[in-house]
Amino acid sequence: MTTFVPEPHLLDSPRGRDWAPAPVSAPRPAGADEVPATADVVIVGAGPAGLATASALWHLGVHDVVLLDRDGRPCGRFFDRIDTLKQRVLRSPYEHHPGVEGYRDCELLDFARLNWSRLTPVERREIRMAQAGHRSVVPVDVFEAYCRHVATLHHVDERTWRADVRGVRPTADAVTVHADGVSVVAPYAILCLGEERRAAPSDWWEGDSVPPGVSYWDEPVPEDAEHLTVIGAGLSAAHLIANALSDGKRVHWIVRAAEERYQCADVNASFFRAEGRARFDGTSWEDRLTLMGGQRRASVMFEFRPRMQAAEADGRLIVHRGRAVTGLLPERAGRVAVRLSDGERVVTDHAVLALGTAVSTGDRLLPAGMTAARDGWPDLDEKTLAFRNAPRVFAVGAAAGMVLGPAARNIDGHRVATARVATAVAVGLAQSSGRRSTDGRVMAGV
Ligand SMILES: Cc1cc2nc3c(=O)[nH]c(=O)nc-3n(C[C@H](O)[C@H](O)[C@H](O)COP(=O)(O)OP(=O)(O)OC[C@H]3O[C@@H](n4cnc5c(N)ncnc54)[C@H](O)[C@@H]3O)c2cc1C
Repeated sequence: MTTFVPEPHLLDSPRGRDWAPAPVSAPRPAGADEVPATADVVIVGAGPAGLATASALWHLGVHDVVLLDRDGRPCGRFFDRIDTLKQRVLRSPYEHHPGVEGYRDCELLDFARLNWSRLTPVERREIRMAQAGHRSVVPVDVFEAYCRHVATLHHVDERTWRADVRGVRPTADAVTVHADGVSVVAPYAILCLGEERRAAPSDWWEGDSVPPGVSYWDEPVPEDAEHLTVIGAGLSAAHLIANALSDGKRVHWIVRAAEERYQCADVNASFFRAEGRARFDGTSWEDRLTLMGGQRRASVMFEFRPRMQAAEADGRLIVHRGRAVTGLLPERAGRVAVRLSDGERVVTDHAVLALGTAVSTGDRLLPAGMTAARDGWPDLDEKTLAFRNAPRVFAVGAAAGMVLGPAARNIDGHRVATARVATAVAVGLAQSSGRRSTDGRVMAGV
């Protein structure tokens, strides 16, 4: 029997290297800094899902696209979160990339090989693993450079504007997207909103604001906190713990389940393939809910296990397994007490909440009732991912979970969603302008 030995050194990878610029570089034309008032499509959110969607539309000849994002740059929030956690490698393998389904663009693995001379021996070995069809670890640095490459090739940078979208208002023949001070009218809007951090239960403390000495996983940890509590059992919690230990801090880790889970991927790989999706498609709503619940359970990459076990063995890490948090209370000298369900109190300099994420369904942007949410999931057309109550508005990303299954929230799932949404939008645009090629494929100007 072969025993899998997790290798902690795979988690380390250089960040901030120089990469060759993409062959086409198209800055926004002078005088085009203002958000256009009209477009063929407005994409809200320029994360990996928005990037994949805009790139797919580009291949289908839909170029009059406006991307609106709070951050103003493609994949900004994704990499900000990753860098706050000092995450150096992705959890998803080389075959997961935000390129375009069905078009043989340079894929992530090709891109990494083209940059062979910039890679470390460990990174090169992982590429060979990927080529041989094994699980492989992708450096964040490579992934970011690849996202920039995809964004540049598909003119996504020049079509992205910084804007906080406050409302999406569909009518029979158009959608108006309202952001701070600007509105864009388009025949179609695509919501690529991603996920917000999951807030702590309201009874963990009094009042609306987070108590002193407490922060969330996507915020920096104060450097002077020598003794830290981390609450949560996922990869963000693992990064926070690993960072604290390597800075010489001592850590309490509160895990609600009986024990922490270590596994390579966060989603069973079959859900990224057609046969896995078919398994999901063919089931009742209740069975889908059960599957989603099971697949969304927190887990940590295998590679962390040796470091965690070593730290626990020598007392730098104390793991409170099977213990639920019931509250957080400020203590003297800026410290914080975490109260556990059995009455124990863990007092440290700082506590970090790594409670995962909650799907942005679009219900805050669309008029009341239009998402027709059931069990928190929007009601989407299974073929096109359009909101059934707002057929000119589509969802790509985690919000499509109950149609596409657990892969919807991951980079590879975006490609599948994008293929459906981009085709539906391109067909709709072509039909309304009377342009359609004979083989049914939509092409601009045909
Ligand atoms: C630390 C971390 C590591 C991860 N690692 C992996 C991984 O290795 N592999 C993987 O497949 N997945 C990973 N994920 C999951 C990952 O979040 C998704 O795969 C990917 O980011 C989702 O892309 P997205 O575009 O749907 O969401 P996001 O990346 O969150 O992008 C959504 C964008 O929409 C913007 N937005 C939202 N609402 C509005 C609004 N009202 N107005 C304007 N802009 C708005 C946001 O600012 C954001 O920029 C990771 C997640 C985290 C947090």
